[in-house]
Amino acid sequence: MSKLRVATTSLAGCFGCHTSFLDIDERLFDLLKLVEFDRTPLTDIKHCGPCDIGIVEGGICNAENVAVLREFRNNCKVLIAIGSCAVTGGLPAQRNHLDLGDCLSEVYLTEPGTSHGLIPNDPELPLPLDKVHPIHEVVKVDYFIPGCPPSGDAIWKFLTDLIAGRTPTLGHGLIKYD
Ligand code: SF4
Repeated sequence: MSKLRVATTSLAGCFGCHTSFLDIDERLFDLLKLVEFDRTPLTDIKHCGPCDIGIVEGGICNAENVAVLREFRNNCKVLIAIGSCAVTGGLPAQRNHLDLGDCLSEVYLTEPGTSHGLIPNDPELPLPLDKVHPIHEVVKVDYFIPGCPPSGDAIWKFLTDLIAGRTPTLGHGLIKYD
């Protein structure tokens, strides 16, 4: 049986969902019998190639996030939003009720201890968006796994269902929203 190709990425997230993914522990060896990884923090592949499954942690807070997300959507047959940040914007979206310019000024110009006297403006830095968006506002998403983060057991159940050709289901004890 040929292996499915899987890519993962973290956009405006904290890598907590990837850490939870690693909480499948020794089952990672079983997973590696079924899949091979494309772009992911586990590999050093810089761009997502053609994949069967794309897993996206984090929402969209800047132009680079948009580009990476579109690359995933264009290359992945199935796209999964994993965790509250990807599903709803999550914690980073708490800045949505504030003015972005005010946030940057307070952090970089006025807040004691973090002030640098200059808002970073290197042209290589990705342009921040006014608001943080859940990924379904930018591309079509096939599946959503809520939770901050979802547990390793939930991720394992979801992926093994999907890989086996079953409709993924998370029953009582696995699905959560906090
Ligand atoms: Fe981190 Fe929670 Fe967002 Fe996952 S959902 S990236 S754990 S803040």
